[in-house]
Amino acid sequence: MLSALWLVGCCLSPLAAAERAVVHHDLQVVVQPGDARIEVVDKITLPQRFKAGQDLAFSLHRGLVIEGEVGSDQKQFDETQFAVPVSHYQVTPAGREVTLRYSGRIFHDITQYGHDFAATVESSAGMISPQGVFLAGSSAWYPITEATDVSFSLSVKLPDGWHSVSQGGRTVNEGVTTWSEARPQQEIYLLAAPFAEYTQTAGNVEAMVFLRQPDDELAQRYLELTGQYIQTYTDLIGPYPYAKFALVENFWESGFGMPSFTLLGPSVIRLPFIPYTSYPHEILHNWWGNGVYVDYEHGNWSEGLTSYLADHLLKEMRGGAADYRRAALQGYANYVGEHKDFPLTEFRFRHGSSSQAIGYGKGMMLFHMLRRQVGDEAFKKMLQQFYADYAFKEAGYAEWQKVTEQVVGQSFQHFFDQWTTRTGAPELAVADVTVAALSEADGGGWLLRGQLRQHQGGSAYELQVPLYVSVEGEAEAQLFNVFMTEKQQPFELRFAAKPLRLDVDPNYDLFRQIAQSEIPAALSQAFAADKVLVVLPANANDALRLSYQRVAQHWERGYREGGEIVLDEELAALPADRAVWLLGRENRFVQQLPELQDRLHIEEGVAQLFDQSYPLSDYSLVLTAKNPQAPKQGIVWLINERPDAVLGLLRKLPHYGKYSYLAFEGDEPTNQLKGQWPVTNSPLAVVLPGGEALEPVIPRLAPLVE
Ligand SMILES: [Zn+2]
Repeated sequence: MLSALWLVGCCLSPLAAAERAVVHHDLQVVVQPGDARIEVVDKITLPQRFKAGQDLAFSLHRGLVIEGEVGSDQKQFDETQFAVPVSHYQVTPAGREVTLRYSGRIFHDITQYGHDFAATVESSAGMISPQGVFLAGSSAWYPITEATDVSFSLSVKLPDGWHSVSQGGRTVNEGVTTWSEARPQQEIYLLAAPFAEYTQTAGNVEAMVFLRQPDDELAQRYLELTGQYIQTYTDLIGPYPYAKFALVENFWESGFGMPSFTLLGPSVIRLPFIPYTSYPHEILHNWWGNGVYVDYEHGNWSEGLTSYLADHLLKEMRGGAADYRRAALQGYANYVGEHKDFPLTEFRFRHGSSSQAIGYGKGMMLFHMLRRQVGDEAFKKMLQQFYADYAFKEAGYAEWQKVTEQVVGQSFQHFFDQWTTRTGAPELAVADVTVAALSEADGGGWLLRGQLRQHQGGSAYELQVPLYVSVEGEAEAQLFNVFMTEKQQPFELRFAAKPLRLDVDPNYDLFRQIAQSEIPAALSQAFAADKVLVVLPANANDALRLSYQRVAQHWERGYREGGEIVLDEELAALPADRAVWLLGRENRFVQQLPELQDRLHIEEGVAQLFDQSYPLSDYSLVLTAKNPQAPKQGIVWLINERPDAVLGLLRKLPHYGKYSYLAFEGDEPTNQLKGQWPVTNSPLAVVLPGGEALEPVIPRLAPLVE
């Protein structure tokens, strides 16, 4: 649910600079938040290759005025790379050093962009205010020179009680705080606010927490976890690249990960699952994205890998990895239609659910398939070598391919080509499965035969397809990997005991188009549609109908092509070309949908779901079904009889997209139940004679980290 990391600074990163030089900034800064003012002395040291007498061109925020004589630069500039209005200058330094003094005002309001149900991203292009200071490279608050990385030392004077945060390590000398980072950075951040500060040493790294209100317990929890995550990833990948990691509370709702700190919004920080989901993700970005930089020109691999080694790994440690991967495939199936698809090499950052399903979901699956193909030991070696080779340099999928080939000793050209440059996904099927007893002359035992097929358009994908076969007398299914290179590929497997059932890719180890029957109904189906029909209950009392009307208007506005609101008594049949929201326990269309009707029973104001009671005076319930006429279209049944819970529900539901059913309690409202309907008829499962009553036990891959 957290937003893209790269929105703030993405555009400054100069592309494809063969040899990147480093400009050093020695900055002395005074900030006056009440006047939105900043005063800066910047002693700039230019790289070795800079020759005396050469002109230095740079850009600076137009609200800042430079002292003394400075020439203006007449060249044409691409203004789109800056988030703020800038002026272009040039100076001719006598040697490799030049000092600039400037001051002025920077204030850009918080604005929203990148909007769909699940993600509204807010940011400021640069702000100095009594609430706090937020300045990034794209704010052009320091002189931005062309095609260079920066290193820096940044001394900041602030009002009493204020604290600053930037990248790297901190020293405090006679009341002046200095942040410095000697290794190449893509930009320089300056954040400040009247923070309550907490620190704790974790090995060689300082864990820090900056909160806008003191909260010892919250801070302590984050400090402990910071140490643990840094240790885990240091062991897995290599040393943490910075002197500190800081959790910084922002003054708007954000989920930014910057080098050596993360900037999270006030309610995000306090969500109970964040310390185990987004937080490790942001810490891991210090290796991927803020350690090894992304070569955006060739696709952002860092979100896929970070999701894989943070979100996915934490699920894997608790036995939930297959569910996580299925949700990723479900996201791709539900959110990415043909017209929204693009190859991984074109992923820059997420701007909605479909780009997330590709950049995070498909990207994550690429690394999972790579790991399965090379094995855990080789995969770990690759992580370590990639980090050692490319830390503080830009890298892309080509570099991943190079490291893979070095470690494994064989070509991975085809693998990277098909997963990074192609759109779409393989559509697997299994056919002609037979089982036969072999004669003594043939060695005895059983022979299982069949054919794997790929139904997608275009050429065949090369896939390592996992087949799990359950045989008589064995507790767990046996795994066979079939390397598939053609669109139709026969397989033959021999067994001593009788095979009872075949499951093709039951753990969702492959990135593929999953069949509708493998996907349980989920909220994401309803949110992914282009238009909507909201059906109100005519029989509800006036107060309830009014409250449902609010829900209806909210959803109607949220869909790209809008929608309609009708009373159930005015509607003859459910349409098949859009998402449908059925509101209210009284809604008469529920009777036409056994999937809903059979699962929830309501008597005297108490709903029964899975043998649990949910009094409707306390609980709001959400159940989903597939449209019987069009299984890709989702139907959602929402029952909420607490008008004060409406706002919270509207805000929260988009974040529960992968779930089939939900129960929320109270006005907050607090989630008490969530889950997915069981999937019972996968087309990739083949029941063989004698296996009808079998519940297959599919073994799981051991976690990458114990
Ligand atoms: Zn991320």
